[in-house]
Amino acid sequence: MSFTDGKTIAAIATPAAAGGIGIIRISGPNAFEIADKVFRSKDSSPLSDAKGYTMKYGGVYDGETLIDEALALIYRAPKSYTGEDVIELSCHGGIYVLNRVLRSVIAFGAQAAAPGEFTKRAFLNGKLDLTQAQAVMDIVCAQGEQAAKGAAAAKDGAISRRIAQIKQPLVDLSAHMGVWSDYPDDDLPELTDEMIIEKLCFAQGKLTELLRSFDAGKILCTGISTAIIGKPNVGKSTLMNLLARTERSIVTSVAGTTRDIVEENVRLGKLILRLADTAGIHETADEVEKIGVARAQEKMKNADLVIAVFDSSKELDSDDMTVIELVKNSKSIAVVNKTDLEQRLDTSTIESAFSRVVYMSAGTAEDCSALEKAAEELFELADYDTSSGIINNERQRACCARALECVTEGVEAMRAFMTFDAVNISIDCALEALMELTGERITTEVTDAVFENFCVGK
Ligand code: GDP
Repeated sequence: MSFTDGKTIAAIATPAAAGGIGIIRISGPNAFEIADKVFRSKDSSPLSDAKGYTMKYGGVYDGETLIDEALALIYRAPKSYTGEDVIELSCHGGIYVLNRVLRSVIAFGAQAAAPGEFTKRAFLNGKLDLTQAQAVMDIVCAQGEQAAKGAAAAKDGAISRRIAQIKQPLVDLSAHMGVWSDYPDDDLPELTDEMIIEKLCFAQGKLTELLRSFDAGKILCTGISTAIIGKPNVGKSTLMNLLARTERSIVTSVAGTTRDIVEENVRLGKLILRLADTAGIHETADEVEKIGVARAQEKMKNADLVIAVFDSSKELDSDDMTVIELVKNSKSIAVVNKTDLEQRLDTSTIESAFSRVVYMSAGTAEDCSALEKAAEELFELADYDTSSGIINNERQRACCARALECVTEGVEAMRAFMTFDAVNISIDCALEALMELTGERITTEVTDAVFENFCVGK
């Protein structure tokens, strides 16, 4: 059965900016009828006569007024992204033109699509499961090579396949346990307590592995939350600008003027850093700066990585010691900056406090390769295999954690010699969590929440 509500939806599928090409996507039972009212092909034949996976050249019209020349791409249900009839009108990518075509399409009966509604329809029509649907958004948002690779693998069903490897044995076990206790005299394959525990432990192991992939997935996909700290004037903003290659944060030689936290997503080799340039950490009577320092310390608490910057041209002082003290329990890299100047810094304290020390001159450097290498080593993620399917969002993590909890309960119930029925309740609970993860069993509220975060036109 197709999920259409009888409605045909439309949206601009390309960014709201001037571009070479802009696409208006129409999906639903009246896609052809509506598209035929705005598109006239050069060969005068209507789109409704055209075969799927074909393309027609023509013009888009508002009444009798030609808006733009266009190509119409034709997809016939169920062989389309949404599983419905879909027409994509590919025009010139001007905001005015695209909006005018969309207005026309809506005037002829289409409804403006909600965020993620095309992908939601694909999910509801069984073209994608929920892990694949979420991966579509991850592909769109991927900022780095591994994030894109992981998202492409998930879209191809890598997470679903990992879940199936856990789910199917649990389904079989549950069924076996059911008949074993209901028909103990029948000629059934043997089922001992040890066998059940072994199967549950297998699921436990696989779920633990999948959950572990979350940390890597989060870091690779959404980036490493990074705090750059150091006393004023050591070159934090300069380093951040070098990383971002923009003049994003205010660089100044007046001590303590980077008062607020400036955030930036930057690519460092294969990693994405979510960078927070912070106010200098130092003793100060200045109230405004005090707030900045407190916020910097707050930011550090949630950072996956702290880059502590020191000035190679100055002797180590109490502010530097405060910085060393602050980062001692964090995953951190020391950057000894301004190596182009005469060295006055005794680096032995820094060398013994940090496992990784990078010497550089952020002010004159062409690249960040030394820092890149240190970060990749620290996170051991440079060669992480994302293609096996990694979970990277909180919804998926929560489902996995719930399934693991239930399976663990099942193991404990078996070890406490509880009845098969009691153990089966735990298995059912684990299966439910896994089916929520893939979207096989899911409430409308959860579905809506998942797609709300998508962009319009996707
Ligand atoms: P912050 O207060 O730690 O953010 O320091 P800034 O990035 O604002 O830098 C303070 C001053 O040091 C500025 O005048 C920079 O141009 C200068 N600076 C930063 N990095 C270097 C460097 O590698 N070599 C030299 N010679 N100067 C630098």
